[in-house]
Amino acid sequence: MTALVEADSPAEEGQRRPATPSTEFTPRQALMQVIRPVQGRLIGSLALGALGAALRVVSLVACGLLVQHLLTGPGWQTVTWWLVAIIGTMVGSAVATTLGSVVSHQAAFDHETMMRRAITTHLGRMPLGAVQRIGAGGVKKIVQGDVRAMHSAIADSPSLLGAGLGGLVSSLIALGVIEWRLLLVVLAILPIVAIVMKIAMKDYAAEREAYDRSLEAIDASSIEYVQGMQEVRMFDGGSESFGRYAQRVIDFTERLRTWNDRSKPGALATRLLVAPLPVTVLVAIGGFAMAVAGWIDPIAVVVALLIASMPVDSFMPLMYMTEHNNKAMAAALRITQVLQEPELPETPHPELPRGGAVHLERVTFSYAADRAPALSDVTIDIPAGSVCALVGPSGSGKSTVARLVPRYFDVDEGSISVGGVDVRRIDPAELLRHIALVFQEPFLLHASIRENLTIGARNATPEQIERACRAARIHDELLALPDGYDTVVGERGASLSGGQRQRVTIARALLSDADVVILDEATAFADPENEAAIQDAIAELTTGRTVIMVAHRLSTIVDADQIVVLDQGRVAESGTHDELVANAGTYARLWDRHRRAQGWGLRGHHGPDATSAAGNAPATGRREQNA
Ligand code: ADP
Repeated sequence: MTALVEADSPAEEGQRRPATPSTEFTPRQALMQVIRPVQGRLIGSLALGALGAALRVVSLVACGLLVQHLLTGPGWQTVTWWLVAIIGTMVGSAVATTLGSVVSHQAAFDHETMMRRAITTHLGRMPLGAVQRIGAGGVKKIVQGDVRAMHSAIADSPSLLGAGLGGLVSSLIALGVIEWRLLLVVLAILPIVAIVMKIAMKDYAAEREAYDRSLEAIDASSIEYVQGMQEVRMFDGGSESFGRYAQRVIDFTERLRTWNDRSKPGALATRLLVAPLPVTVLVAIGGFAMAVAGWIDPIAVVVALLIASMPVDSFMPLMYMTEHNNKAMAAALRITQVLQEPELPETPHPELPRGGAVHLERVTFSYAADRAPALSDVTIDIPAGSVCALVGPSGSGKSTVARLVPRYFDVDEGSISVGGVDVRRIDPAELLRHIALVFQEPFLLHASIRENLTIGARNATPEQIERACRAARIHDELLALPDGYDTVVGERGASLSGGQRQRVTIARALLSDADVVILDEATAFADPENEAAIQDAIAELTTGRTVIMVAHRLSTIVDADQIVVLDQGRVAESGTHDELVANAGTYARLWDRHRRAQGWGLRGHHGPDATSAAGNAPATGRREQNA
């Protein structure tokens, strides 16, 4: 994006920079927009395809004319010239057609690379929150499926369109020149062909969409079945989700059968009409009848017969092209929608954060213009090296704070600084190097564990890696894997348990230079054995770093330096545990409810569970230091 006038303040900078103006494209406009980089070559390919088809018509007409000349007994020289012309146009036709196809295929490969690069670069510049909204499945569909659909359309459509249009126009002109009455015979049949094809294709787009949808439903349920195998087996022995998968397959088969049955008459009519036979028979009957009546030259009938089927033949490539185009238009629409997503505004003079202090100053943020703010006027000061726990009812804005600090989105009003620098003035990649994110659903790349560990620390030595993994309580379990640290993690980390994946991401965070750790209380759904290991790993990670923690269970945060209670996007109160309990406000009520749920009665928070919570709590680094 182009840099605008130097902004007076960072807050204004983010707002002044315009997002790429978002245009509502129709599918056709989207297609034209997406193919623009290779447009010139596609026109070239189309022209070559049309030339190839036209030269074929010329060569056939020349054959007919040669026959006519032979009847008048020409000399060898004339015949030779005719033969040269015929062979020349035939070879020219083949060369032009092949060249047209080579040009469009080359353009398709280049376009595919260009598109993948443009989309991935753009995704890299979009706010992480917006990428997350598209989801991994959506990104895969666009980068893989849609780009491939564009490839097929770009590779084949120009030559199909060229062959179709070139063949149609040149054969009609040739027929007109040879004998206009025979042209009328062919022209009489063309509208019938066009009408039959239109009727046959009437429901095609809707049927095709329904077909694609049932195919996608099968994909989704098979992924659900395979990925959720563990839970599936645990809860229903697989019968329910396998049943869902089987039902989708039955639905798909049913849809295919219905489509097939419905399209049979249309397909049959098209096959009968859009074929050389009917038109050739018609021209033969009409032509020879007129020749017998002495209206036209019999040779003209022979020449016309050679090319009579070409106008009808030309409809086939046009039909195939429509199929490619429909797919490509849908794909192009999704591609343009992603490419139109606004990028994170760039900062012209990036600065480096100095230390791990985090400060939110009067932050207001909404996920969409027409939605109520998720955060309103939120100010939180988190000194370097301290622990700040965010608590509050579901939907109160805790995760939103956790997302705004690493710039998943930019604030609407106010500002956020890390290490004393407004996050909008920090290069996004640099910012993410300073922040370790530990969320509930850890993501690992389909690569070796070692590669996963060193994403943020390419130069880490094997000793450093091992030290981090020992600290994250995962070293022994990694060594027990078939290839140890070099084991390749299965899709979505399937060969590791959730708790193990969590600890690998913690080891990765330990290896990075992050001063700030943002932690969505990550053990909420772990089994007890994993939970203890994860809590130990987290304690290692949080020691000496600034910690922002989204807390789901109050017992884990009693020792936090600061507890911020959020309610409907606003800071209801903040302070230490003891201060907030003494305040008798929202936190005191939540704490009371929590204690009663734990069955402690009113013996004060230094009960047995408090001790165990202290033993596990992410803030424990501190408790141990305090003790
Ligand atoms: P908490 O973490 O306290 O449960 P959140 O920060 O997730 O709360 O949500 C705050 C508000 O923002 C809620 O009203 C929620 O519905 C809304 N919200 C959260 N995430 C999104 C999102 N990706 N898109 C739109 N609205 C969202």
